Amino acid sequence: MAFNHLAEQLQERRQQQLYRQRRELKSAQGPVVELNRQRCVNFCSNDYLGLAAHPKLVQAMQNAAAEFGVGSGASHLVCGHSRIHHQLEEALAEQCGRPRALLFSTGYMANLAVIQTLVGKGDAVLEDKLNHASLIDAGLASGARFQRFVHNDMASLETRLHAQSAAANRLIVADGVFSMDGDLAPLPAAAALARQYDAWLMIDDAHGFGVLGENGGGCVEHFGLDIDEVPVLMATFGKALGGFGAFVAGSDDLIETLIQHARSYIYTTALPPAVAAANLAALGLLEREAWRRQHLQQLVRRFRQSAEALLSVCPRVQLMPSMTAIQPLLVGDSGRALALSEALQQRGYLVGAIRPPTVPAGTARLRITLSAAHSEEQVDGLLVALAEVLNEEGSHEEAVHEDAVRVDEVGP
Ligand SMILES: *Cc1c(COP(=O)(O)O)cnc(C)c1O
Repeated sequence: MAFNHLAEQLQERRQQQLYRQRRELKSAQGPVVELNRQRCVNFCSNDYLGLAAHPKLVQAMQNAAAEFGVGSGASHLVCGHSRIHHQLEEALAEQCGRPRALLFSTGYMANLAVIQTLVGKGDAVLEDKLNHASLIDAGLASGARFQRFVHNDMASLETRLHAQSAAANRLIVADGVFSMDGDLAPLPAAAALARQYDAWLMIDDAHGFGVLGENGGGCVEHFGLDIDEVPVLMATFGKALGGFGAFVAGSDDLIETLIQHARSYIYTTALPPAVAAANLAALGLLEREAWRRQHLQQLVRRFRQSAEALLSVCPRVQLMPSMTAIQPLLVGDSGRALALSEALQQRGYLVGAIRPPTVPAGTARLRITLSAAHSEEQVDGLLVALAEVLNEEGSHEEAVHEDAVRVDEVGP
């Protein structure tokens, strides 16, 4: 029978503690969400600024839907490109300090578009090993020589750049903030290597845009890099901006090339105009409400201080080095990560257990994400719950260990 391996494959995944299940939310996204029969403090969304259910975004979307309807009706090149789309692109170009910006329906498609359009046979694409799956997929599908360098290791990148010096074009690609680790790419060093080896640097700033930098411009603003140093900047609306969709910002030539040639731009329906309107409203809040970024940074500091204190007396998990809203606790084993996540949920805290293949084997983790919508009390509450579940796990293991000793004692 065709495809009768599916059931077997699924069973295997269950046994490896890698089975994934969706939770059904019964409320809007926010610091507290409602699950089936439970209200939980939410520490696993990417709604870093607390904008996903903001009344101003909702209002903008409702107004635009009243005027423009729901569907955009066509792709951008046919007749789906509305005044609101265009206005959003102009606002983005200005926010990023770049000549142009181009909207995409999702970040996944934006990454496919850029990499497949910029490189192909005879070129080389060099990617950080921990890049987002969409960047990896795009690199593999591009037809260019695909090289991965050790995470954030500039010597490893340089070796690969050197080896690809005969390629017609070299494109270096990295996440600005790594989505499962929360650490930043060493952009100034990567930009220097790009210049030295005549390569272009592309940054996917899905987790930095809106959060990092004085004005929320993301990691390029944080590091003070310009368009010559990072010619291709990509970011999304689905995370800190609380909306949906993505964009690429760069030179006029880059944007026109994408409009002319990018298949995942050309052959797909434009975002609903009302979604673009909500994104535009979010950009406005980014500018006017700097307190969101500041409060988030404050929560990050508070979380890390308390977590470091907790883990110094209870070194059962490891706090990863991150100064961003993504604060992962390295657990190692997938089953253990899942059990800890479930124990936290029983206490009313929603924290994601991230397991392979999303992260490398043996590095399962609790991915805690903070939001400007959280209060200090909610963060403190999470740490109390974390201390409890880690202690409980510890005493459980000791009990198992004692049982084992007793079995040994009555043994031969
Ligand atoms: C979420 C994410 C994407 C995909 O963006 P979507 O708009 O959700 O498709 C791309 N890159 C990174 C680093 C991401 O975290």
